[in-house]
Amino acid sequence: MFSRRNFLKKSALTSLLGAGSLIWNQDALAKSGRKRKKRARPIVISTWNHGMAANEEAWKTLSAGGAALDAVEKGVMVPESDPNVRSVGYGGFPDRDGNVTLDACIMDHHSNCGSVAFLQHIKNPIAVARKVMEETPHVMLVGEGAYRFAREKGFPHENLLTEKARRDWEKWKEKSKYQPVINIENHDTIGMLALDAQGNLSGSCTTSGAAWKLHGRVGDSPIIGAGLFVDNEVGGACATGLGEAVIRTAASTIVVELMRQGMHPNEACCEAVDRIIRKHKNHPDMPHLQVGILALNKDGEAGGFSIRSGFNYAVCDAEEKNRMVDAGYRMKWN
Ligand code: ASP
Repeated sequence: MFSRRNFLKKSALTSLLGAGSLIWNQDALAKSGRKRKKRARPIVISTWNHGMAANEEAWKTLSAGGAALDAVEKGVMVPESDPNVRSVGYGGFPDRDGNVTLDACIMDHHSNCGSVAFLQHIKNPIAVARKVMEETPHVMLVGEGAYRFAREKGFPHENLLTEKARRDWEKWKEKSKYQPVINIENHDTIGMLALDAQGNLSGSCTTSGAAWKLHGRVGDSPIIGAGLFVDNEVGGACATGLGEAVIRTAASTIVVELMRQGMHPNEACCEAVDRIIRKHKNHPDMPHLQVGILALNKDGEAGGFSIRSGFNYAVCDAEEKNRMVDAGYRMKWN
């Protein structure tokens, strides 16, 4: 199991090396004596507590020898369909005008990807994103076009604003303070990464986005390279937290590239988080900025790191079954 102390030692070393962190290439890895540990395949990881139920569903596919792509689609459909998950799909917090607008993307081991953004009235945007990937020549559909496409593909029109979410919105309107609620409680975007028995990686990411956002706002979650990135040669990464900060830094791509240089997923997530902190040092978002990143490499090693405390993720493999792991972080919420 990942030891926080060892990791902190390594992170301190990495910080000391500063911009030189790219020296963590294969050569440095060999010199450092760290042996790549091949874990038992398959494995699935996903963000936050709602990752447990999502992993359970994904595991049914993976443990039967199924494809990572099917696992990551079916897995995240669980929180998408659960009205008690207030930050994904049906039951998610609406924007400031009371509309639930959803973002999602999916990526497979051939670097195929599909994405939908600003989609309304469709309960499972991840399934629509997969259809964009498989049944169109495009990567991304948004808004009305994404909705029409989903309807053509047989997805029913549904009201996604639950009574509970409507009441919360009415309450918010009393003060109408535009302050996105990000990650202070454990119930945000679900990002999922899986490695199947064939050794192939896929990932998915789906969200209702920041609560009370401006109508039309799209975060990082449907943006390939920001909220999710998979390279089957190396590994995958996904993000949760303030999407604007994740987009500014292409966080998931960065993590995959750092793993390509030889970093362990934990180190890569930590380095990307440090970069986000550096880039936002004087930014007005910094006092409440939270981003959590998850990564899984081709050897089935998993890791995660966040700016602030409280980020956790679910990991499921045959060895240790489904369990929650607290991610390392740089700062405590105060
Ligand atoms: N990343 C999501 C967004 O900015 C929100 C979240 O993960 O909480 O839309």
